[in-house]
Amino acid sequence: MSQPLDTLKKMLTLEKEDYHFRDRAVAGGLRRYAETWQRQAGEAYGEAAASWVNEIAELLQAYSAATEAERPALFEQLWTLLRRPPQGEAAPAPSTGQHPPTGEGRPSAVPAGRGGRRGPGVHAPVALLPGVGPKRAELLARLGVETIHDLLHLYPRRYDDFSHLKTIDQLNYGETVTIVGTVWEVSGRRTRTGRHLFRAILSDETGTIVLTWFNQPYLEGRIKAGMQLVVRGKVDEYLGRLTLNAPEWEVLGRGDLQPAILPVYPLTEGLTQKQMRQIVRRALSSWAGRLPDPLPASLREAHRLLPLSRALWGIHFPDSQEHLAEARRRLTFEEALYLQLGLLRQKLTWKAVPGRRIAPPPERLEALIAALPYELTGAQRRSLEEMLRDLASGRPMNRLLQGDVGSGKTVVAALLMAVVAGEGYQAAMMAPTEILAEQHAKSLARLFERFPEPRPRLRLLTGSTPAAEKEAIYAALAAGEVDVVVGTHALIQGGVTFHDLALAVIDEQHRFGVEQRGALRQKGHNPHLLVMTATPIPRSLELTLWGHLDVSILDEMPPGRRPVETRVLSPGERERAYAFIRAQVAKGRQAFIIYPLVESSEKVEAPAAVEAYERLSREVFPDLRLGLLHGRMKADEKEAVMSAFARGELDILVATAVVEVGIDVPNATVILIEGADRFGLAQLHQFRGRVGRGEHRSYCLLLAESPSEEARERLSVMERLSDGFELAQKDLEMRGPGEFLGTRQSGFPELPLLDLLDTRTLHEVRSVAETILEADPELSDEAHRGLAQQVADFWKRKGELS
Ligand code: ADP
Ligand code: MG
Repeated sequence: MSQPLDTLKKMLTLEKEDYHFRDRAVAGGLRRYAETWQRQAGEAYGEAAASWVNEIAELLQAYSAATEAERPALFEQLWTLLRRPPQGEAAPAPSTGQHPPTGEGRPSAVPAGRGGRRGPGVHAPVALLPGVGPKRAELLARLGVETIHDLLHLYPRRYDDFSHLKTIDQLNYGETVTIVGTVWEVSGRRTRTGRHLFRAILSDETGTIVLTWFNQPYLEGRIKAGMQLVVRGKVDEYLGRLTLNAPEWEVLGRGDLQPAILPVYPLTEGLTQKQMRQIVRRALSSWAGRLPDPLPASLREAHRLLPLSRALWGIHFPDSQEHLAEARRRLTFEEALYLQLGLLRQKLTWKAVPGRRIAPPPERLEALIAALPYELTGAQRRSLEEMLRDLASGRPMNRLLQGDVGSGKTVVAALLMAVVAGEGYQAAMMAPTEILAEQHAKSLARLFERFPEPRPRLRLLTGSTPAAEKEAIYAALAAGEVDVVVGTHALIQGGVTFHDLALAVIDEQHRFGVEQRGALRQKGHNPHLLVMTATPIPRSLELTLWGHLDVSILDEMPPGRRPVETRVLSPGERERAYAFIRAQVAKGRQAFIIYPLVESSEKVEAPAAVEAYERLSREVFPDLRLGLLHGRMKADEKEAVMSAFARGELDILVATAVVEVGIDVPNATVILIEGADRFGLAQLHQFRGRVGRGEHRSYCLLLAESPSEEARERLSVMERLSDGFELAQKDLEMRGPGEFLGTRQSGFPELPLLDLLDTRTLHEVRSVAETILEADPELSDEAHRGLAQQVADFWKRKGELS
């Protein structure tokens, strides 16, 4: 054993002989040196010495924190340890001193976590850390911290940068500052208005400033003359003097400003910022240097990324702003990489099996297209070609067709199903509701009639298909006497077996769970899969949300569509809206009136719509035919009401958000949305898509009780934009990716650092992930072990993607 040990011995000798335990041997104190020493010794002496090294590092920390009177004892313990370096494999038992940082919490005493090769138990409960007992562990659990690993990845909310402290004479009115000074005097009293006022005068070598706090009497006795304080707040002015009103404050202990940039953690009651910093710092001291870096060195070098240990220190206790930025870059890169590796592996897994090679003769395809009652749009043609390439590839297709309401997804799916049927295979299309399935069946039947022979044999299968007919359909499907079946969940029931299902189409994919989508896929042998969605996602999020799928986009509307005329109305204009609806009904048209959830609970959803329905039927439209639709109704009741509306037997449908999904009632021309400010833009756009589906001019009226400025601004976007992609982009910009995703993709991994709009990083990392998987699809190389484990952890709770 050489270098680091000798250096430390020299320092300690100096500390004792020359500085008499005043902690002066190293600038910033021995605590400052502990981390450096730990790193160097860790590298020099290896794993076998880890617990010995850690114990010394902790003693060094404790030494700086201790009083001068306590230090000689700590010094002796240190010295004893230094004289007994571990020999070879077996590190000698560490000293059994009584000082706090040692004891059962040493990392070496922590049981190894899952899988021995993962290194020493960083997934062990946080309670095993020194300075964290069961009580603190409970507090930490409230912050989502269960394990040591969680703690190391509990990133600060922000940082207090003391490297650019201002002196009192530099303060300007209105700026937010952090200053350090000594308390000169304090006073507490009641003002004439009966409020308690606590004042402190803080001074540094350049001047003084008054600090004031109202109604915080407990500060008396907490802030005392002579104390060193760090305060942070906005500079105010009172009677011509600068003041800080109710600043955040902290008593400054020795060495607190080293390093100069301090983390500010999320807290919970019972845990102070200071304690959190100490806990995290200790965890870092013990663990940061010992964790294997999941990123291979070659990758780190190629992308100039910090090693894990340096990054963890940098995100918590950076040396400088540059260190912090680099730490963040490295950890963000990691998050993005696990995300993309997971998505890509899923994609490759699906593609790893053989798929049916389906390639129709070109004449057949052209004949089908020519038989359509209209020209395909460019986007429809392009998407169709992309899908045909998938079908011919010999690998199962896994494609998402994304297109705004009315962009014509159904016909693309219809052509594809006809192609599959023409080659002697079967296709199935699943829709979330009976009425949608029925509508699809109808429009497919109309299209298939026009197609040249052989025409696909089509059946509809839903929950309300009579039992006898069901049996007949089951038999026909199993015998291969039906080519295309359209239906609801009834398609994935046990009784359904296919002769040879080669293509599964899922409409409105977000309405189905992963299991249901999987169940349809299971009805065939690696069938081709097409999922369709009318909820556009901005391009910037595509890689993140749908990185496991191939994506086709219908970004072009069939010609001749008139945008739905949209108006934001003030509450005073409600009567006018009713009059407008009445006039449309008089012309033979139909209307929707939508009510929001009052709160986000099914229980209160119904009454809002039910009450409104009763009031509207009694007082506003007593002479018209009204229907009611809400989430607490049974599925068959809902279906009955919707069908009645679709058949024109109702004039007005009063509904909650359940009506969102694509029913097609071409005769409906008005949709009035109450409480419009409570819906996201994307959802409003979906509602709006319920009208404007026929030849008649259509209208969307948005009402909000008393919207905020912001909400009004948001709603006015609906007046200007009719394109779903543009709206989604605006929605994303206004609400941010967290909210935006939260409402549509629950169960997505948490991404504390990654900015989902940072497409540059996402694309860079995507190609890194591709390169890695190209060379090592299973991540089974020795160099990728850490990566494989991290990806698994990252996606742990997510199950299969679809
Ligand atoms: P969505 O994408 O919302 O499912 P649909 O497939 O229901 O849209 O199509 C909406 C309407 O547009 C249908 O009535 C359909 O017949 C019609 N349509 C689809 N493609 C075209 C086209 N290329 N030209 C004209 N009309 C089209
Ligand atoms: Mg549709």
